[in-house]
Amino acid sequence: MKILEVKNLNLGFKTEAGFRQALFDVNFSLEKGKTLALVGESGCGKSISTMSILKLLPKTAQITSGEIFYNGKNLLEYSEKEMQKIRGAKIALIPQDPMTSLNPLYTIENQLLEVIEIHQNLKGEKARKKALESLEMVQIPCAKDRLKAYPHEFSGGMKQRAIIAMALACQAEILIADEPTTALDVTIQAQIMNLLSDIKSQLGTSILLITHDLALVGENADEIAVMYAGRIVEKAPAKDFFKNPNHPYSKALLNSMPAKRETILETIQGQPPTIHQDISGCKFHPRCKYCFEPCKKSVPENYKISENHISACFLNK
Ligand code: SF4
Repeated sequence: MKILEVKNLNLGFKTEAGFRQALFDVNFSLEKGKTLALVGESGCGKSISTMSILKLLPKTAQITSGEIFYNGKNLLEYSEKEMQKIRGAKIALIPQDPMTSLNPLYTIENQLLEVIEIHQNLKGEKARKKALESLEMVQIPCAKDRLKAYPHEFSGGMKQRAIIAMALACQAEILIADEPTTALDVTIQAQIMNLLSDIKSQLGTSILLITHDLALVGENADEIAVMYAGRIVEKAPAKDFFKNPNHPYSKALLNSMPAKRETILETIQGQPPTIHQDISGCKFHPRCKYCFEPCKKSVPENYKISENHISACFLNK
């Protein structure tokens, strides 16, 4: 069952040089209890896609068309008041830097109690019990004592766990994890990814994982969508993707993964385009080693590679 579905999303920014399109017919969906990884280099449109879901866009951004369905209802038709009941409670964001979500002036307990009171309508002892349960669920040792700590007394990994605890306290159905481990040490990265995976299997939470790092995705995603310059260029079940990647950009990303470094390390020449650069045809063509004449003239459609596997590359024509 699809819990989240982004359909034909088009978005742009008002800039001094005029309106510049940043997302082009973005389509992806998240199945209940599964993890979808949205992968691509920085600036490819992953984060702005997810900010569209939460309707937390900068003032200069404008969605020009598309729909975003959560449990069958189009969030783009929701008022700000209605969105406030969804954000944090039903769909929670696990940010790259946990300090953007934690208030340094309040204890972890106070911050957990605040969201529990607002979104779960619990007060007093019941709310405190829920706060403790949530902190225990994210495996923070001595959780009872840690509730009284301030964010600066937590390590980076523990802060990230506290953010996840807030989402669990509200029984969020979807976690949007936006580069959740980038600011953490490698060993802590694995612990946070394992925690997200445990939450998914134990509570049936659905996870939208936003990352530039395919190595992180390997064991954690059920489905992968690769984004380049505001478009989804390949989408496939994770197993299929790693066994049979199709799009030249996906292949280049895979060949630049650290695990492959003892064999042949492929670097992707050049930089991804910004929204200010007009590139005709396939936007990957200036960096693609397989580029041939049609690639410069028109945008490739999505070609079906196998069941649930699509790739937008003319080599499949
Ligand atoms: Fe490369 Fe052409 Fe495929 Fe684009 S359409 S990825 S330029 S081969």
